[in-house]
Amino acid sequence: MTRLAQTLGLTEFQTEIVSTVRQFVDKEVIPTAQELEHSDTYPQAIVDQMKDMDLFGLMIPEEYGGLGESLLTYALCVEELARGWMSVSGVINTHFIVAYMIRQHGTDAQKQKFLPRMATGETRGAFSMSEPELGSDVAAIRTRAKKNDDGTYTIDGQKMWLTNGGSSTLVAALVRTDEGAEKPHRNLTAFLVEKPTGFGEVVPGLTIPGKLDKLGYKGIDTTELIFDGYRASADDVLGGVTGQGFFQMMDGVEVGRVNVSARACGVGIRAFELAVRYAQQRETFGKPIAEHQAIAFQIAEMATKVEAAHLMMVNAARLKDSGERNDVAAGMAKFMCSEFCSEVTQQSFRIHGGYGYSKEYEIERLMRDAPFLLIGEGTSEIQKNIISKRLLSDYRV
Ligand SMILES: Cc1cc2nc3c(=O)[nH]c(=O)nc-3n(C[C@H](O)[C@H](O)[C@H](O)COP(=O)(O)OP(=O)(O)OC[C@H]3O[C@@H](n4cnc5c(N)ncnc54)[C@H](O)[C@@H]3O)c2cc1C
Repeated sequence: MTRLAQTLGLTEFQTEIVSTVRQFVDKEVIPTAQELEHSDTYPQAIVDQMKDMDLFGLMIPEEYGGLGESLLTYALCVEELARGWMSVSGVINTHFIVAYMIRQHGTDAQKQKFLPRMATGETRGAFSMSEPELGSDVAAIRTRAKKNDDGTYTIDGQKMWLTNGGSSTLVAALVRTDEGAEKPHRNLTAFLVEKPTGFGEVVPGLTIPGKLDKLGYKGIDTTELIFDGYRASADDVLGGVTGQGFFQMMDGVEVGRVNVSARACGVGIRAFELAVRYAQQRETFGKPIAEHQAIAFQIAEMATKVEAAHLMMVNAARLKDSGERNDVAAGMAKFMCSEFCSEVTQQSFRIHGGYGYSKEYEIERLMRDAPFLLIGEGTSEIQKNIISKRLLSDYRV
């Protein structure tokens, strides 16, 4: 029997955990997603079960209490979660990037302090680069940390679009530290900012104003963050050395791109499943619409896109796991998976006819979720910049 998005060569553990997550999604996520989405309710019960399944520690090394799994395992689990509801995958996305950055770039003390608590989900990560005036142009960051005589830093400025901004307790924030470097991106530093959950001035000098109202991706909180005289210590600098923030964040974004690819695959698979079912149930002109060639061809096109996206995503994850540079593979996967996801949800929507526009049908949610994947972790244009720059250099005449 042909099934889409299968992955060859998985270990026994990978097969088992992906199947467990799939069953969890079918039983707990899909039946509740529409209601939680429409009421913009945080999926606390689902998050608690994800903690019990150790999903917050999937990629955290075993010595720190995590499962020590690969990026591929993580991405396949995310694909399953996003198949159920993209917001649920968003809950672990920024957490996973921050844990990855601490694992790769943190000092020993930072790893000891944060990773065990992150593995259980007790500490939850958010990732903050964007500001009101910039997203793609990261080197233009304006939020500033000024060093004080006692070695602490005072941070002032405004950050934008923090996924999990209110529900997280640890924010990796990229700010300007003015190292005197000529290239702007060498003047940036990542700070690990601890805070309680919630909104308002949660610690002196740090305010999370409230949830931003979005087109889709509901339930999960996306916020601004305002630093106004916030005091950070030198121990809060990721890796203990200033001026390294841009590289550390870009490393995080690179695995984040595989993660967004996996989310796009999950949303695309669900859009396909809904379409292939509906097309066999809905009748027009005396037969199921699947028997009209125009619809059958759409099914074929959607399936091919779903399959191609899955293969690109798996390839990018495996490349990273092998220790090879994967900026081009991750950029290509992110670009293609998100564009295909958009096309497949649009095709599924059309197959649903008027019902696709009804809030009773799941496809309307996927139609609102898919566009975010074209933007998050760098837009398609930014991916094309990355891909073309590298290839023009590697294929230089
Ligand atoms: C729901 C949501 C959640 C988010 N979560 C986070 C988060 O957790 N942390 C975080 O840091 N950020 C987050 N973001 C921000 C996101 O990463 C940015 O929105 C994204 O990087 C694009 O930046 P921008 O919105 O400033 O668009 P801009 O950079 O202003 O781009 C506007 C347009 O110009 C195009 N463009 C820009 N530069 C170029 C160029 N050089 N060549 C060609 N075209 C170009 C872009 O592709 C786009 O079409 C989130 C955004 C959303 C909507």
